[in-house]
Amino acid sequence: RILLTTVLDLSRENVKGIAMTVQDITREAELNEAKSQFISNVSHELRTPLFNIKSFIETLHEYGEDLSVAEQREFLDTANRETDRLTRLVNDVLDLSRLESFKLYNFEPVDLAQPVEQTLRTYRLNARDKGIELVQDIEPSLPSVVGHYDLLLQVFTNLVGNALKFTETGGKVAIRAYLLGSDRPMHEQHEKQPFLCPPAESVNTTDAQNLDFQMVRIEVSDTGIGIDMDDQSAIFDRFFRVENRVHTLEGTGLGLSIVRNIIEKHHSHVRLVSEVGIGTTFWFDLKVFQENTLAESDETD
Ligand code: ADP
Repeated sequence: RILLTTVLDLSRENVKGIAMTVQDITREAELNEAKSQFISNVSHELRTPLFNIKSFIETLHEYGEDLSVAEQREFLDTANRETDRLTRLVNDVLDLSRLESFKLYNFEPVDLAQPVEQTLRTYRLNARDKGIELVQDIEPSLPSVVGHYDLLLQVFTNLVGNALKFTETGGKVAIRAYLLGSDRPMHEQHEKQPFLCPPAESVNTTDAQNLDFQMVRIEVSDTGIGIDMDDQSAIFDRFFRVENRVHTLEGTGLGLSIVRNIIEKHHSHVRLVSEVGIGTTFWFDLKVFQENTLAESDETD
């Protein structure tokens, strides 16, 4: 009987072991598939501006003398713009692959007012040129969060950059940060402010509920063109860009993948509410820094 039990135990272990191995292989196959899909997408995206640059240079080279100075300048301007696009693309791809290959980040207490201020400084001129009001609303004496300064700066840069890109003259872009459960309920702000906020009930879906640490909520809102419901889940996918706007505005379709990746590294999720013609709010929660929260957050995945 002992022997039989041992045999059964062993075979149970084996089955478990085999099941785990099959799972590992499946996961690895999925990862490989995702990787080769990414490489093929990147190659495709890189090829387009390269092809354009080469065509313009070749045309100038062969027929330059037949073109007016204005035409030559236009060709050069286009080649220059395509070079900028290529640079953005290469930078975004590098950012994303760096993020994916690093498992360990040094998390530290971050005073959110600083990366927010730095982001607004970067975009102030751009916003003024476009006639868009940039608003900062960081709750006074907001505690520091557990985070990575440079990565959070990149999140703000990408989200505010998008918000400005997809908002018309006369619109507003705002960054807010406040302690969840503090005495400024979100629906009050919603009434006060003309731009979108997550509806009050969505506060209950936060990852922070029933946990014994406090969370800070961060929102980046705009009064821009909004995102159709059908596109909302896809916008975080690599290279996804909403149709019909692709050629008019700069972008790589990687910005939000980077944002999602960074926020996930902070053990959180980025969410959005959006209405076409009204605006969009992206939001996520970060853990308040306490002496004992740092060690837990050092490792990712
Ligand atoms: P991109 O480089 O194209 O901005 P992202 O990954 O940052 O790439 O965004 C993907 C797409 O999501 C954008 O092309 C745009 O169509 C849509 N999008 C992102 N942010 C906003 C926003 N604030 N308002 C409207 N549409 C947005």
